[in-house]
Amino acid sequence: MAVLTVKNAKKSFGENHVLNDISFEVGKGEVIAIIGPSGSGKSTLLRCCTILEHLDGGLIQYSGDVLCKDGKYGDKEQMQNIRKKFGLVFQNFNLFPHFSVLRNVTEAPIRVAGMDRQKAEAHGRELLHKMGLSEKENAYPCELSGGQQQRVAIARAMALDPDILFFDEPTSALDPELTGEILKVMRELAEEHMTMVVVTHEMGFARDVADRVIFMDKGYIVEQGDPKVVIDHPENERTRLFLQRFA
Ligand code: ADP
Ligand code: MG
Repeated sequence: MAVLTVKNAKKSFGENHVLNDISFEVGKGEVIAIIGPSGSGKSTLLRCCTILEHLDGGLIQYSGDVLCKDGKYGDKEQMQNIRKKFGLVFQNFNLFPHFSVLRNVTEAPIRVAGMDRQKAEAHGRELLHKMGLSEKENAYPCELSGGQQQRVAIARAMALDPDILFFDEPTSALDPELTGEILKVMRELAEEHMTMVVVTHEMGFARDVADRVIFMDKGYIVEQGDPKVVIDHPENERTRLFLQRFA
């Protein structure tokens, strides 16, 4: 069964139809790259999948658990249950500035999932170790580089052992020399078969790491498939035009 199913998703802001009939599935262990021009609806799609926005119509389902159907959402408890199934990494890290690195990672497990502090901290330290940040657990976000902050954000997104991780342009706010360290961490997660949906302009990453690429334009999925086809031999003219910028 798919980890995530999105079917006929629709979302408008007033007269602006931002998502038009979006359908795709993400299988366990799959890495999906979403590419497309600015304003094509990529962030809105991720925000709808992670309950930061609500769809107007269509279905979102996590491993068979329905988040919304025909634009109708379940009760608070159902939503809370689904919130534990995913993690989200933003472009601008969005760490809690007044919390230490470790507390950034343990806050959701303790407050949302009711995990006891010791257990949450032990797990948080494991995740920080994995991200190469063991030395930084007592530091505050402002004392870290952008790359380090984003690695904390990835550890935080993984704190509830999600079934799927979403990334919204995770390297776009970073200097080129720091981009590499984040892409490396994401490659390692992919090798460990973490299920991931990554909005990115890093075509090298999409080509090498993604199992499937989705090209969005004006709120539609224009083309999706094997990265070697979509990126190197796109069938659609709009995909071709978009990719010319990266050639
Ligand atoms: P992308 O991430 O592909 O650049 P977005 O999903 O951010 O695209 O935006 C798609 C469209 O939706 C844009 O026209 C944007 O202005 C609009 N939009 C996004 N969020 C909002 C919002 N909260 N209110 C009104 N319009 C929005
Ligand atoms: Mg965006």
